[in-house]
Amino acid sequence: MKPNSKVSFKQILWLMDEKCKIAWSDLSPKENKVLNANMFCHSEVYGFIGTVCPNCGTQRIHYGSCNTSGCLECGIVRKEKWLDKQ
Ligand SMILES: [Zn+2]
Repeated sequence: MKPNSKVSFKQILWLMDEKCKIAWSDLSPKENKVLNANMFCHSEVYGFIGTVCPNCGTQRIHYGSCNTSGCLECGIVRKEKWLDKQ
């Protein structure tokens, strides 16, 4: 990995897990849920749908989100939706 390359929180979690730096058994159920959400959000774990462009026929897979407030990706969306309602 290049020193100046941007690394996402998800990538950091995967690297930590790969090097056994996460003590999964010491985590509370809520901590476990939040870490799993951040690691697997927008992956096949949360389902997916496939779409085909009617014009060019390009096929795409759209992975589901975890919709967990502790997820960095979904939490921001939930926060923005909440702010819009205020
Ligand atoms: Zn998420």
